[in-house]
Amino acid sequence: MIAGLLLAAALAGGVLPREVTIAGLRGEVRLAVRLDGAGFPVLAAGPLIAALEGQVRLDSTAWAEVVISRQPFRFLVGAPLYQFSNQLLPLAGAASLARDSLFLPYQFIAEIIPYYLGDRYRWDARGARLVELRGRTTTLAGRAAAEPARLPNGLLPGHIVTIDPGHGGVDPGNPGVFFPRGTHEKQVTLQVGLLLRDELKRRGIGVRMTRTTDTLIALGDRGGYCTEACDLFVSLHVNSLARRKGYTEIRGFETFFLAEAKTEDAARVAQMENDAVRFETGQDPSQTVGGLDFILKDLQLNEHLRESARLAELVQRGLEGVHTGESRGVKQAGFMVLTTARRPAILAELGYSTNPQDGRFLTTRSSQKSMAASIADAIVEYLLEYERKTGTAADSGSRR
Ligand SMILES: [Zn+2]
Repeated sequence: MIAGLLLAAALAGGVLPREVTIAGLRGEVRLAVRLDGAGFPVLAAGPLIAALEGQVRLDSTAWAEVVISRQPFRFLVGAPLYQFSNQLLPLAGAASLARDSLFLPYQFIAEIIPYYLGDRYRWDARGARLVELRGRTTTLAGRAAAEPARLPNGLLPGHIVTIDPGHGGVDPGNPGVFFPRGTHEKQVTLQVGLLLRDELKRRGIGVRMTRTTDTLIALGDRGGYCTEACDLFVSLHVNSLARRKGYTEIRGFETFFLAEAKTEDAARVAQMENDAVRFETGQDPSQTVGGLDFILKDLQLNEHLRESARLAELVQRGLEGVHTGESRGVKQAGFMVLTTARRPAILAELGYSTNPQDGRFLTTRSSQKSMAASIADAIVEYLLEYERKTGTAADSGSRR
């Protein structure tokens, strides 16, 4: 976007103003422009946010959340980054703390607010004035009238979830020791995936499938189905164990979110699912997962981890209500399929095909349906929570 250009021009031309004016509908406020330790122009957050009738909150992880016009902008204190609408974006200079006061980059009022909130604010560069526009529905009544109708479950319309039924085509997934003859993991994940699609649609949520037939989609491509206009990515799988003493006794379900594997068992499951890469190009899967470190850093910054962990928790809890096997909990591991999704992403292992009870449960239509319904309910709960937390969708439904 335009980040930095105006600012660079202002600095080069020496036209950086000593103060800016916030021209609100109820009066004008003047604020001094200061330079931070690195020489970048900043404004004291307190008076700025008061003038914009916004709110600010510092959380323990060093993010400052600034809500203007009910839109949350999140600044990473000390780093030239901010987050808006689930996207992490660069800044010329960082938000900073000095003597317990928060300072925000000048760029926030000169570029970011006029860019994202252009229907409400205009930046007059010559006069260094941020002007609030008249005739907007800023009254409570106006807002209520402008808010789109909610679905019966309380969600705003427009959410989209990508469902990824694991494996497919020449990659059968695990062979399904206790599945009916000829049934492999890939069929079960597709059956549950299609049922989940129906359940989500019934709840007013749009669905994108990585596959609807018995076909192979490359692991690295699956996450690409969930980028801009997608809220969540849900990959479905069935677990299995290698033949060893007592291996058929292990059963149950677990939900993963992307992170470095914490335990040996989590690493084993990740390795097994990542192994599907060999069906695509003959690549060594351990090589392909090598890029994880880089992606993880990105994910940690943009908070997908926290969101993914929350979604995983709700899905796992939902499955606990319907599954006859043991709840093996929420876990983290490095799944390649999750690394390319640009939204919160989870992977559910719905049970063990190497256990007779799980094998029957996973291939019974009624239990497939109840698993799908519980996952759909968990997704609704997650999205409701997300809407409440951000308050963004409630304004215009602009968040997708
Ligand atoms: Zn699998």
